Parts: sequence; C-alpha cells; structure tokens
Amino acid sequence: MVYLKTEEEIELMRQANLLVGRTLAEIAKMIKPGVTTEEISNLADSFIRDNGAVPTFKGVPNPYGVPFPAAVCCSVNEQVVHGIPDKRVLEDGDIVSVDCGTLLNGFNGDSCYTFCVGNVSDEIKALLKTTKESLYLGIQSAIPGHRIGDISYAIQSHCESHGYGVVRELVGHGIGREMHEDPMVPNYGKRGNGMRLSNGLCIAIEPMITMCKRDVYVAEDGWTVITRDGKPAAHFEHTIAIHNGTADILSSFEEIEAIEGKLY
Ligand code: MG
Ligand code: MG
Repeated sequence: MVYLKTEEEIELMRQANLLVGRTLAEIAKMIKPGVTTEEISNLADSFIRDNGAVPTFKGVPNPYGVPFPAAVCCSVNEQVVHGIPDKRVLEDGDIVSVDCGTLLNGFNGDSCYTFCVGNVSDEIKALLKTTKESLYLGIQSAIPGHRIGDISYAIQSHCESHGYGVVRELVGHGIGREMHEDPMVPNYGKRGNGMRLSNGLCIAIEPMITMCKRDVYVAEDGWTVITRDGKPAAHFEHTIAIHNGTADILSSFEEIEAIEGKLY
C-alpha cells in the first residue's frame, strides 16, 4: 500500500529525518581508530532519546524473528548492511556504514552514511565517492511523471560503469508512519519501468554498492549482510519527498560533510 503524504506530514517527516542527520553528525565527530561500534550505537541511542524521539531499528525482528538489538546498524568493511554494534574496535583504514532510523511525532526518518576511519585507501574512497554520486543521481531522477525504474537505472548504470557491484537482495522503500512502506525502490532496473512517481510520495533511496562482485550472504547472527568475496561495500541513504514537482531531500549530510572535510 502506497501512502501519499500531505504537506503537513512531509514537514513532520523532515523533522524526523533532520534528527537522523544530526545524529549521524554526532557520530562523525567521534569516528576514529579505537572507537567501538557499540560506543557509536550508545551515543546514537541517547542522542535520539534526548531529542524526544525513538531509535526505530531497536527491536525490529528479522525474517527469523530475531530482534535487532541496537539503536543503529554499524557495518564495517565487507559488511554491507545490518551490522550489529559490538565490542569491535575500528581500525585505521576501515570504513563503517552507520544506518540510523528515528521515530518522531509519529513519522520515520531513515538515512545512512559510510564513514572513513583514519586514513582510507584511494581505492575505497573512490567506491564511496561513486556510491554517494549514484544516490544523488537517483534522487535527481525522482520527479513526478518518472517511474521507480528511472531511479534504479540511474544508480545501477553509474555504479556499474565504474566496475562496482549493485546488491540485489536489499532495496530502498517507501517511508512514512511505517519505516518500510511500499513501493520498493531497487538499486537496479530499467528506465520507464515500475510505479509512476507522484507528488506526496516519500521514499528512502539507498544504494548498497560493492567493490567487486555483488554477491552477499547473511551471517549466523541472522542480521549482518556480508560480501561473499570479502571486499568492502558502501551504503548511502537519503529519505526524500516528491512534492512541488521536485525531489526534496528530507535527511541531510551537510553537518557530517562539514565535520569530515573533503575526503574524496
Ligand atoms: Mg536506513
Ligand atoms: Mg532504509
């Protein structure tokens, strides 16, 4: 079921998503070698609650009924998504994708950013750059009259033209009162295919892109999605609202990027 949002609802969605952006910016300040993913999650948990919201990922069951135990997902290097925060210590040269969701005033925010830990290789930075570019190319395609497949094609063609893999098993999604609503927004597809986009549609666009092969598997914890070839993967996500004839980005990387400086 696709729920189109009113202008008032879109503004509530913006509040939830800007809080995700501010949470990820707090995380950007603490990312360095020696920090554990559990420390990242704990900071996110208290920051989100201090701002009157709830971290939505905590307690969400996977298909086997195993609840996600933490406030955010922290996926390191070859982990693509849904990494469970733990005592793992981040090392110089690692990357970590932090996926964050908030529920504020009845509406959801959802955004993810892949951070560099210390000095990351140029090869990995190129993967991050291309993945982030593909997110914005997807967003540019998200205008009324276009179709879901136009978003998918924009992401896939950009990433594959650089030789990267586009994960098929996980996709973007509609978002609103529920964290996951229809429609699905795959990162691969054909132009002109799929649901037609219209004003009021709110979706999370989230390319999950691998350095080499696109094959992934789920770890024994029932959550962590990992590349089969053990090569790194990147994940960037924005929640957007299609309204007034354009794609309005509700989440924000601005504060994060101001803290990071120009890395790539
Ligand atoms: Mg997310
Ligand atoms: Mg999402």
